[in-house]
Amino acid sequence: MSLLDLTGRTALVTGASRGIGEACARALANAGARVALAARSQDLLEALAKELPNDPVVLAADLSQPGAPTTLAQQAIESLGHVDVLVNNAGISGVGPAPTLREDIVDKLLAINVRAPMMLAAAIGTHMAERGSGSIVNMSSGAGVAGSPWFTAYAATKAALDAITRCLSAELGEKGVRVNGVAPGIIHTDMWDAGLKIPGIRERLEDFTPLRRVGTADEVADVVLFLASDAARFVTGETIAIDGGAIGSKFVFPRQA
Ligand code: NAP
Repeated sequence: MSLLDLTGRTALVTGASRGIGEACARALANAGARVALAARSQDLLEALAKELPNDPVVLAADLSQPGAPTTLAQQAIESLGHVDVLVNNAGISGVGPAPTLREDIVDKLLAINVRAPMMLAAAIGTHMAERGSGSIVNMSSGAGVAGSPWFTAYAATKAALDAITRCLSAELGEKGVRVNGVAPGIIHTDMWDAGLKIPGIRERLEDFTPLRRVGTADEVADVVLFLASDAARFVTGETIAIDGGAIGSKFVFPRQA
């Protein structure tokens, strides 16, 4: 049997209604997992559930609300029986120059991109620790390590998520729970659709990416499946870039001659 096989396992995927989360839910379900799909758009989740194998569960939730992440964790444990895999994917973007930063924008970004995955990881991670196994995958971003103009608020939320990955992996490792992250670069989903249509933007992004293209949601989901599975059984505390080399290529040694 392949180490990527998730037959008999269960997974909670947040932000599963579209984009990267939907691709992760498909990858995990097709690998054999029974998946709980969470987001606000119940209609989209139900349509996806009809397409997936292994009797998926739909759990509509607005993760910006206080208490919602903990409630979702309880619902997932109750409806799935237990949770083997958590994909903490739901997130929003927010870009703009420093003068346009407002407290309400920052608070919303922090609520969805930091408070929600932190509380979900704490609740599901505790449940996994009691069972002695589990894998949590946090959806970070290359923005969390890059110094990009206009990305101050969003980048800060992803850097915070990376800290959550490091701290929880150190805390839960002895209980058999692995905590990792993935850091996508530019992935063509709704989040980047408008940006990629701005004249010249796609070309500039492709130019500093060694693989010379933007990525797809499926390419992120494949790495999430790896981290969720036993193929990554000795990997924890890592955040893996999935960016065609974009962030790593920022520094190049000058020519010697
Ligand atoms: P997307 O297409 O906009 O999808 C975002 C998902 O998050 C949707 O399923 C959305 O569902 C859910 N969501 C948003 N607000 C929510 C809320 N208040 N409560 C519950 N769910 C909520 O974006 P994406 O590109 O797939 O991004 C997914 C993750 O990848 C995010 O964390 C993002 O920061 C990260 N990421 C993306 C890229 C990229 O280039 N696309 C790069 C790096 C990192 P509903 O609207 O139905 O609630």
